[in-house]
Amino acid sequence: MIDPKAFYTLSYGLYVVTSGDKNNGNGFVANSVFQVTSDPPRIAVSCNKKNHTYTLIEKHQVFALSVLSVDASRDIISDFGYKSGKDTNKLQGKAVIYGETGVPVFTTDCLSYMECKVVQRFDVGTHVIFIGELMHSQMLDDSKKALTYDYYREVYKAAAPENAPTYVEMPSAETSVKAATDYRSYKCTICGYTYEESDGDPTQGIEAGTLFSDLPHDWVCPICRTVKDDFKLI
Ligand code: FE
Repeated sequence: MIDPKAFYTLSYGLYVVTSGDKNNGNGFVANSVFQVTSDPPRIAVSCNKKNHTYTLIEKHQVFALSVLSVDASRDIISDFGYKSGKDTNKLQGKAVIYGETGVPVFTTDCLSYMECKVVQRFDVGTHVIFIGELMHSQMLDDSKKALTYDYYREVYKAAAPENAPTYVEMPSAETSVKAATDYRSYKCTICGYTYEESDGDPTQGIEAGTLFSDLPHDWVCPICRTVKDDFKLI
């Protein structure tokens, strides 16, 4: 028997992983990143083969890893986590520098970044795990804490996007128990965020107790910025 909720007890950070060059760069939000060894310093990143960044890592054999801070703008998660680099240039208009290897590095709301050269790859089916050797690393802001996946789930109330290795399809009935009130919950079908009528959406000035049907027409998902029509009652 597999209880999908057990997966949610695993801990992760949240990072923007970028690759490419000055002409064609892209990035995605990753949580499945970890340091493999310290000597030599190596980092593993799991990347979905459908991601545009995956194609760029295969081509350039380099990637950069930017560690998001706990107060990172939701737009970063929205732009890098729920949009495809095949449709849009995610780095356009962003604070990007180019590292020693020529790889684009995302720097907004980040504690640090690391530039890696791919030394090994493991094809694990839907994803490829790239092992990168650290070429260069730099602190950007040591006054903040890192954003964790747990914080993202608890505070942002979102789930992993479908391309993430940690994506779990949860039975919808288990996610909402509202016996004591008539408030209902609506789940974003794009990113998994749940709008709780009892909580409202303080990030967009929506007071607790606001019914989903009373949300303004221009209200969007606070995580992936999709429209109300993409939510379903759970
Ligand atoms: Fe969403």
